[in-house]
Amino acid sequence: MSKKVMAINSGSSSLKFKLYEMPEEIVIMEGNIDRIGKDNAVFEYRYQEKKEKLVQSIADHEAAVQLVLDTLISKKIIASYDEIAGVGHRISNGGQYYSDATLINEDVEKRIDELSVLSPLHNPVNLIGIKAFIADLPHAKEVAVFDTAFHHTMPTVNQYYGIPYQYYQEGIRRYGFHGPSHEYIALKTAELYPEASQRVISCHIGNGASITAIKDGKSIANSMGFTPLSGLIMGTRSGDIDPQVIPYLEQQKGMSAQAVKDMLNHKSGLLGLSGISNDVRDLTKIAQDKSDSRQQRASLALKVFAHQIQFYIGAYAAELNGVDSIVFTAGVGEHSALVRQLACQNLGYLGVKIDDEKNKVNALSIETDDSTAKVLIIPTDEEIIIARDVMRVAKL
Ligand code: ADP
Repeated sequence: MSKKVMAINSGSSSLKFKLYEMPEEIVIMEGNIDRIGKDNAVFEYRYQEKKEKLVQSIADHEAAVQLVLDTLISKKIIASYDEIAGVGHRISNGGQYYSDATLINEDVEKRIDELSVLSPLHNPVNLIGIKAFIADLPHAKEVAVFDTAFHHTMPTVNQYYGIPYQYYQEGIRRYGFHGPSHEYIALKTAELYPEASQRVISCHIGNGASITAIKDGKSIANSMGFTPLSGLIMGTRSGDIDPQVIPYLEQQKGMSAQAVKDMLNHKSGLLGLSGISNDVRDLTKIAQDKSDSRQQRASLALKVFAHQIQFYIGAYAAELNGVDSIVFTAGVGEHSALVRQLACQNLGYLGVKIDDEKNKVNALSIETDDSTAKVLIIPTDEEIIIARDVMRVAKL
């Protein structure tokens, strides 16, 4: 019998949801609320080919959850809350504890809370989302789906930092993130091109960005590490820097630890380098406009960004001892021909080449006929991984 299952992704001031009919994987309604906590919060949702938008005050995540559930009732998507059999929550960090999604109970809530020290921006709001759904839907099965779980297959050699061993034992290690997205890419690549799915480099390039080396469907390396701040430069995050920069800024520039953290998370990456925007659309437009005085900085930011993607593709081709498919996904990966072209221009040594015309139109498969590996553009779908996990783990 079909079941209604929700996939929830809550951010510091946002809540995204998709309601599915499972196991058919039919999306019944989807939406997102932005600017939670503000008077002008925006709630956009889509159902039955309709798209609606509300702007109103939404005090907190509890109010956001209530608004989503009320809307499901008022739009007659459900007749009562009891119809929702399961809710899957995307949780940023499961640390060393969770190698798979898990049914939520008090112990799991406690662990997620404890792990907030590792993911202070995400785990606390994830937990608020969980509590709000438990209060409103006491009959539904609640499942935690961790961003880190897919990467538990990473060989230990890829988990260490070169710091005293005791810290590894205390949990300071590479975890890897964006698990549901990379898992989806692994599955979809295998479904579309089984012959090219043994050694996959999955490039999730959005506002947050990470790259995963996937061998036979399993993660063996991810560019993010202890937290989602490391690896590639991102929209506003620095990615990897020499760790000595941090005490330098604190001791020589008098910055507080909080100010450095804020800079690395919110004022760096594409935004910091360009001084203009974290949005690749804005930067591409300006980089192509010779009359714009900001052209060079926009161009510089995009080049550094793409160069780092190239760097990880090279590293992970070595990690995988070759590559069968390079997959681009997420906002930038799916839509920016320029970033893909810059990132792939030096892959001749691997025998990998992209076709400019196919790249320009965001085709599914953009490699040339004589390329040794496929280069794919696959829209990611983290929510379907969450909904499937709910069905499996809650035995619905
Ligand atoms: P998040 O990590 O927040 O989920 P997304 O995967 O939605 O991010 O990616 C958002 C980013 O995708 C935007 O900041 C923008 O830079 C980029 N993007 C979206 N559409 C386009 C486009 N048509 N061309 C280039 N970049 C785009």
